Formats: sequence, C-alpha cells, structure tokens
Amino acid sequence: MKPSGESPGYNVRLQPECCKFDSKIQAYVKTKGTRSQSINVITLGCSKNWVDSENMITQLQANAYEVSHEREDSSSEIVIINTCGFIDRAKEESIQTILEYAQMKQQGALDKLYVTGCLSQRYKDQLEQEIPEVDAYFGTMELPALLTHLKADYRHDLIGERILTTPAHYAYLKISEGCNRTCSFCAIPLMRGKHISQPIERLVKEARHLAAQGVKELILIAQELTYYGLDIYKERALPRLLDALAEVPGIEWIRLHYAYPNKFPLEIIDAIKRHPNVCNYLDMPLQHISDPVLLNMHRQITRQETIDLVNRIRDIHPELHLRTTMLVGFPGESDSDFEALCDFIEVTRFDRLGVFQYSHEEGTTAYQMEDDVSAETKEQRMSQLMQIQQQISAELNEQKIGQNFKVLIDRKEGDYFIGRTEADSPEVDNEVLIHAAEQYARIGDFAQVTIDDANEYDLFGSIVKDRK
Ligand code: SF4
Repeated sequence: MKPSGESPGYNVRLQPECCKFDSKIQAYVKTKGTRSQSINVITLGCSKNWVDSENMITQLQANAYEVSHEREDSSSEIVIINTCGFIDRAKEESIQTILEYAQMKQQGALDKLYVTGCLSQRYKDQLEQEIPEVDAYFGTMELPALLTHLKADYRHDLIGERILTTPAHYAYLKISEGCNRTCSFCAIPLMRGKHISQPIERLVKEARHLAAQGVKELILIAQELTYYGLDIYKERALPRLLDALAEVPGIEWIRLHYAYPNKFPLEIIDAIKRHPNVCNYLDMPLQHISDPVLLNMHRQITRQETIDLVNRIRDIHPELHLRTTMLVGFPGESDSDFEALCDFIEVTRFDRLGVFQYSHEEGTTAYQMEDDVSAETKEQRMSQLMQIQQQISAELNEQKIGQNFKVLIDRKEGDYFIGRTEADSPEVDNEVLIHAAEQYARIGDFAQVTIDDANEYDLFGSIVKDRK
C-alpha cells in the first residue's frame, strides 16, 4: 500500500539521525471555547514538529481558541504554520506553504498569519524581509511568546498533557530536545540547540495521560536517544527511563527511534530484552560505512567499530529488528566509498533502511567542503541502495509467511484494514494488510494475524484471534 517509487519501508523521504519528513497529517480538534477567533495549525516536517504542534494546540485550546489542525476548508481567521528547515526540500515545502497562505491573507481569506518552527528559527531575519505578509515569526523555543502575541496564557499546569494529531492509539513522546553531537552535515543543532533531557517523572506523567486517552504505543523520539540523561542525571539514563515507562498501565508497545552509534550503551539492548512491552526494534542511523566519509562526517566511529557494534547487538538480542539510515552523496564520497556502502548493506541485511541524499547546508561544518557529488549521482546512488534493500526486504518478508504476529490496526484504507507488527514504525516501515471484505478489525486494537503472503513492501494476513 505504499506509493510506488517511494516506499517508506526502504526510503524515508528525508531522514537524518532524527528526522522523519512525513506528509501532512489530518486531525481536527473540536474545542469548547467561546472565544470567537478560530486557528488552523499547519505542521510540516518531522515527528518532533508534530509533538510541538500538539503542545501548541493544547495551550491554544485551553485559552478558549477554536483550534483545528490541517483544516482543509481554509476558513480559519488565524493560521499558524509550524515549519521545517533542515534540508533544501523541506525548506522549499515550508516556503511554498507560507507563500500560499500569505496569498490567501492578501485575498482576505484569513486575518493573521504566523510562522514558527525550524525554518523560522534559522532564517527569521531573511523571512521577515522576504515575506512581510506574515504577521510574526517565532523560533523553536518561542511558544510562550507566540501565546503572548495571541493574548493567551502559557498554562504550566498543562505540561505533560497534549491533544494528539496522530491516530488515538499511538503517540510520539519527545524525551529530549536538541543535540550535542557535531555531525558535519547536520543543521539540526543550529535550529534546536543543545541537548536538553526531560526528567523521567515528567515523561512518565505524560505517558500516563496519553495512556488514559487510549494510547497503546509510545514512540520515543529525540535528536539523539543515547544521550538522554547525561545533562540532568550525569549518566546515560535511557534504560532507567524505559524501566519507568514500561510500568505505565495500558502501554503495550514502546518503540525507540534515533540512537547514535558512537559509545552506544549496550544496556539499552538489555532494557529492550527485559521488558516485553518495549518493542524488539531499534532505529540506529549509521549514515555511512566508509572510513574517509565517516571521518569527514565527524561521526566519531569507524567502519570496524560499526561492524563490531551491529554484531554485538545481534549477539545479545538476535530477535531485535534493526532500522538504519544512510546518507549518500556526502562531499568527497567516491565510487569506492559508495561500493563499500552497498557491500555493507548487502552483507548486514538490516530489517529496515532509509536513504537520503546529502544537502549542502549553510552553517554546517560540511558546508566548507565542496558539494562535489552531482545531483544525478546522488539520485542514482540512493536508488541503487534502495534496490538492494528492496531485495533484502522481500526475502525477509517471505520468511514471515505462515507465522503469527501481534498487529496493531492503524486504519482502514480501500479494501484493507492496515496494521503494523512490532517491527514496524508508523509512516516509515512495512504494513500488514487484512482483507476488509473477509474479516473485521477494530482500528486501534491489537489482533493476532497469520501472514499468508508478502511482497517487498507489505505483508498480507488474516486474523486468527482478536485481542480486545
Ligand atoms: S548532529 Fe548528528 S546526532 Fe545530532 S541530530 Fe544531527 S545527525 Fe543526529
């Protein structure tokens, strides 16, 4: 059921360590307020932006605004665009969206237009000059200022509560903000600042609120998961956080995204094994395997150390599903560097792979290098890697035929109910399709499913036993 030519199972459209650049999501938030003005929030970019929008919507709603998210009829008086700005394509989409709404404002379709998020943080001065139709721009940490501008109070009592824009049964839990790493290609620290962990108690409180709302799957996100706790607890505290979250009643799956490989704490793998409700799934973006490229990327890890780490993780936990992301077309990436990367992917056989192309970003260390791999070569290398992974994925999926899996039903689309196994994260990984004409599945419930057929993208199954 993935769009052809762009299978999120193998190629997250654009994905550095920590960013999913997903299509727009749809949600409509009804409010009980009496304030006359209505606000439509538009979210671009990654899951961290979704969480930011959810917090913003919660605060605005508590201040009696009528708030919608991604409303299509464009009838709101105020529009707030939460932008993304980490690579060219994301920036283009954000600017295009701002221009569209600026034009609507000029035509009188809305009264006020505000822009927040990463693009606004990074290029505020330029944007103010070039798109003056926007009433005000705010940075990534300026929600209180945005609220003040709207004559709304920042409600500290709502910290840990939020209105979801995802389906009701799963939610992203942002455990930290920012990043202390210095990957030379990455602009995210320029926009999100240094790493700041959220305390365990606050995250547990948030998880309890979410579970009470019906959330069954928590997807832990951060720019860099393994750094969690080093700032506030002076130790890597992700295993401790997992111990606490695993106890929250109602949470059946906890999933981990974006772990940096250098000095990877193997205690995380022990924690995954220890808790049945922590998914056997780890997203560890490796970016490359060739030593010269890794060195220039400032990844602080070598080819051999990477291979040793993957082997060690698989030794400790053979059932773990490993997802990784690779970056092609980094300055100086030679044919032999790329061949080494292809060989590594073929031999290592990751369960999931995302590939993205290098984007030459001002302000990053790599910007001082020459962007010497042509756009055509970047495209060709990305597609070659995807083809290799496609074959691997088809083979891995084939092996699942005849087996039973616990599947979380996400939605109904066309003739199918569509769900995921614990090896699959929403939006980016494989899906399980169940014929809706033959069987009924309740959205948001788990079902036990036998896999009857498979292709490189999807599994096709039938429900053997409902788990209410
Ligand atoms: S600097 Fe490196 S670890 Fe940090 S967000 Fe960027 S890619 Fe991820």
